[in-house]
Amino acid sequence: MSEQINPFVQEDGKKPSCMQMLQIILDEQSTEAQQEYFKAHMDRCMPCFKTYNLDATIKELLKSRCCGGEAPQDLIEGIKQRIDQQRPQ
Ligand SMILES: [Zn+2]
Repeated sequence: MSEQINPFVQEDGKKPSCMQMLQIILDEQSTEAQQEYFKAHMDRCMPCFKTYNLDATIKELLKSRCCGGEAPQDLIEGIKQRIDQQRPQ
């Protein structure tokens, strides 16, 4: 069986890190192929799974506040710090 093509690989052939993939996905700049690949990747990669779900939680939180103004900055910073701590080495 041939290896699955990684749609995140850059034109220069560089393989992106988990964090780079997460960033593309979370910035919503990803293609459908990238989303599919990342979903499969998350099943095998706990740091990605955790970070992705944490970010989804933040987005839900922000959405629920859309009519009441912006979410408090210190709350967002606190959640970001938690993501940083989970960053795979
Ligand atoms: Zn990963």
